[in-house]
Amino acid sequence: MFAANFEYLRATSLAEAHRLLAANPGAKLLAGGHSLVPLLKLRLAAPPAVIDIGPITELRGIAGQGDSLRIGALTTHAAVAASAEVRTSAAALAEAAAGVGDPAVRNRGTIGGNIAHADPASDLPTVLVALDAAVVAVGPKGERTIPAAEFFTGIMTTALRDNEIVAAVVVPMSKRGVGSAYVKFAHPASRYAVVGAAARVAVNKGTCAEVQVAVGGLVPHARRASAVERALTGQPAEAASFQAAAARVREDLGGDVNGDVFASAEYRAAMAPVYVKRALAAAAARAGLT
Ligand SMILES: Cc1cc2nc3c(=O)[nH]c(=O)nc-3n(C[C@H](O)[C@H](O)[C@H](O)COP(=O)(O)OP(=O)(O)OC[C@H]3O[C@@H](n4cnc5c(N)ncnc54)[C@H](O)[C@@H]3O)c2cc1C
Repeated sequence: MFAANFEYLRATSLAEAHRLLAANPGAKLLAGGHSLVPLLKLRLAAPPAVIDIGPITELRGIAGQGDSLRIGALTTHAAVAASAEVRTSAAALAEAAAGVGDPAVRNRGTIGGNIAHADPASDLPTVLVALDAAVVAVGPKGERTIPAAEFFTGIMTTALRDNEIVAAVVVPMSKRGVGSAYVKFAHPASRYAVVGAAARVAVNKGTCAEVQVAVGGLVPHARRASAVERALTGQPAEAASFQAAAARVREDLGGDVNGDVFASAEYRAAMAPVYVKRALAAAAARAGLT
């Protein structure tokens, strides 16, 4: 199927993108095109104009910013996965980016497009919520920083305003003794997460001193698993503790689990503790290595 007619516009700066957005009500931004173009071709979206933000060089790249990494919105999944800084300081994010789709998707798809699209089965929102990352959104009058846990508000819905553009995500860097990991039950065709779990664990003298966990794929949007976090904090960093804490994820899911023809809600809920336990064990193992 072909897309409905639209005007193709290109922005070379954020200021120009904002001007074009204001002048073209209903226009959509185009980054890697891996979510937008399928929607256009299926005519699930038919904007009057598409604004290509690809030429905006200020939205690309990964740089240190104090104790965090700032990753530009146009940075591809492949670049995030290959970055030595991300692999060292936010291993879960590198792991999630490396597992997105296939090489074509990873080489075109961007971190900004992924989170703005907010597919519940996406991998990156789960990691960003677990790592306490933040989203930098730029509007015509300036920028604001939105905690990842507040950015994702529903199925394909975010806190982004119509005239705002995602400029970057800011991810706290792990310190010594802290490890992070992302694991998923990948859909065999698309590799999207049927169930995804991300964890960051600080281990001190064999005890889980700080625990951050999020789940995605099976819920309308990525969310923190606070019952799991409470159950593991202060416990020994060992398999029995990970299993006991992971079982608490059912409290975090409530009755709010997605199901479809591939996997029922009951099946996904049953898989959640399995993947949370794996994420906890992998994060704690990495904490011991740093
Ligand atoms: C076959 C296939 C398999 C996939 N598998 C996975 C997977 O396993 N895991 C996973 O997480 N994802 C997966 N994806 C999605 C992929 O990660 C895309 O990169 C992502 O969903 C969209 O990023 P994009 O840069 O292509 O954005 P686009 O398609 O260009 O844009 C998507 C949406 O975001 C908006 N947008 C883009 N950039 C910005 C910005 N800077 N500010 C504000 N709004 C913006 C656009 O207007 C549009 O509404 C898959 C996609 C395909 C086609």
